[in-house]
Amino acid sequence: TTDIYYDDDADVSTLDDDTVAVLGYGSQGHAHALNLHESDIDVVVGLRENSSSRSAAEADGLTVTTPADAVSQASYVSVLVPDTVQPAVYENAIEPNLEAGDTLQFAHGLNIHYNQIQPPEGVDVTMVAPKSPGHLVRRNYENDEGTPGLLAIYQDESGDAQERALAYAKGIGCTRAGVIETTFREEVESDLFGEQAVLCGGVTSLVKHGYETLVDAGYSPEIAYFECLNELKLIVDLMYEGGHAEMWDSVSDTAEYGGLSRGDRIVDENVRENMEETLEEIQNGEFTREWILENQSGRPSYTQLRQAEKNHEIEEVGERLRELFAWAEESNESESAEGAE
Ligand code: NDP
Ligand code: MG
Ligand code: MG
Repeated sequence: TTDIYYDDDADVSTLDDDTVAVLGYGSQGHAHALNLHESDIDVVVGLRENSSSRSAAEADGLTVTTPADAVSQASYVSVLVPDTVQPAVYENAIEPNLEAGDTLQFAHGLNIHYNQIQPPEGVDVTMVAPKSPGHLVRRNYENDEGTPGLLAIYQDESGDAQERALAYAKGIGCTRAGVIETTFREEVESDLFGEQAVLCGGVTSLVKHGYETLVDAGYSPEIAYFECLNELKLIVDLMYEGGHAEMWDSVSDTAEYGGLSRGDRIVDENVRENMEETLEEIQNGEFTREWILENQSGRPSYTQLRQAEKNHEIEEVGERLRELFAWAEESNESESAEGAE
């Protein structure tokens, strides 16, 4: 069975003699840096000269310097800039300043697993990946709660890689909730598959097909929006709380029978084969090669796909409905509070 680590399995004082360089102060970076700092671990934030994040990090009371300088000060380097810029940041700022005995750490294994970053011998290479957006990693920590995370060791030259990564995981609050041991390969491939096949790609495609089927058959766009998109949240909340069982228990017998008897007809063996093909492209590196080329050529397909998604009728219908209905009032208010009008 899978190993899961909790607070008792980790000791923050393992990093007493370390300085941790947190590169990037975005979603994950700000949360890691602040949580580590409040866990009494020495932190220096590495940001490029003209960084838009600099003032935030300084206002939060942290020491900020350039990525190169942060790495040379540190013995533990946490790479929390976007995955697409990591290879360049590695080449320019990290590699020249890494020393034997240092730890190089990621929150996602993409660049290591697909060899976009090839760390030298003599350094530990680890992953501590909170399974949550950064603002929740921070909020949970402030509320004395934890954020579940993953831990993986790619290279253990010191013999202490695991102990050190666990100390870091405790420092950001992950061991309060539980940290699951995995490998870089498993983390990367399952993460890409999940977001492509089920979470981001699969679910939006399912919603669009459902919406279009109803609207093309003459049903009103508003009704189609509610049935195929809005209610999805209620269903997913039940699944999150108690698995499929709780969801099936909560819906009517008619919905349960209809769903159980028709679900596999909608998402059928063809979909399963498409999923296997998608997984294969992840495993053989085809997807990642495509994504790297896409970035190198200025993101032409990405831009087009994004635009087409924005132009889908369901977006306009949703925007109109979310403004008309009281359930969205709170998020409307917080939005207009943020946009300084
Ligand atoms: P963000 O997009 O939030 O990172 C933005 C930060 O990176 C900013 O401080 C930005 O500063 C800095 N940055 C951007 N480009 C550069 C550059 N060329 N050189 C130096 N600094 C730069 O990243 P995330 O927090 O989303 O992701 C960080 C890592 O965490 C990734 O590996 C990601 O896969 C992983 N992860 C992310 C999760 C999430 O929910 N977001 C969840 C779990 C893991 P500037 O103002 O200079 O642009
Ligand atoms: Mg992902
Ligand atoms: Mg219904």
